[in-house]
Amino acid sequence: MAKAGTEQADQEDLDSLTDRLVHLHRALYAEARQALLIVLQARDAAGKDSLIKKVFGPLDPQGFAVHAFRQPTADELERDYLWRVHLRVPPKGAIAVFNRSHYEDVLPVRVYGLVPAAEWGRRYDQINAFERHLTENGVTILKIFLDISKEEQRKQLLERIDDPEKQWKFRPGDLDDRDRWEDFTAAYEELLRRCDTAWAPWHVIPGDDRKRRNHAVARLVVATLERMSPRLPDPDPSIQAHRARLS
Ligand code: AMP
Ligand code: MG
Repeated sequence: MAKAGTEQADQEDLDSLTDRLVHLHRALYAEARQALLIVLQARDAAGKDSLIKKVFGPLDPQGFAVHAFRQPTADELERDYLWRVHLRVPPKGAIAVFNRSHYEDVLPVRVYGLVPAAEWGRRYDQINAFERHLTENGVTILKIFLDISKEEQRKQLLERIDDPEKQWKFRPGDLDDRDRWEDFTAAYEELLRRCDTAWAPWHVIPGDDRKRRNHAVARLVVATLERMSPRLPDPDPSIQAHRARLS
């Protein structure tokens, strides 16, 4: 009984957080002076997609975007690794969620040695400088690492294999990453340490409990937007003069 009561309270709370999120987003869009970039990182099958749908689904699609970063295309590989990322930074008035991000360039790239160590080793400072540049130019950055356990990932990957509705999501490559669990842990630890800056700090959220985790992310996003305090523009009295043309 107590558990059911708690679940209901959590649900109500998520609903009211969602209301606040929708209103804050509307003010951000109307104000059109600043942007919010949410960087979402996690291991495979951590449930980033369902989190995005649950937390951000109610937002007005105008002024909101999700960008997924997969293996770079040939075209992207011909540029510096931040090029494709910078292109998708939200414009003023918008919120964007990065489903993976430039941090992939110090994750699989490092673990599989896709570029020489000297090259990825320089990227932590480059990323910090890039994020600083963005924050100094009107983009607030909220970085979230959803931390799932190896056991939870096993459960989720098995579900992808067994559930015909989910099988399309299964990629054998995810098992290669899983085999390198410790290497990815080391890579995550280093980026969490070196890229936890005053202007763009990391937030680590335990990921196994989906409901709690959605809630924690919604709270973080609302708190961040509240700090940005977007304001609907004040009504302009001179606009009243236009009424005459509508009579
Ligand atoms: P998913 O997000 O499940 O669609 O998978 C995308 C895959 O692309 C993941 O395995 C990522 O690790 C990989 N990926 C994303 N960005 C990069 C990158 N810059 N270099 C190499 N692999 C990447
Ligand atoms: Mg992978």
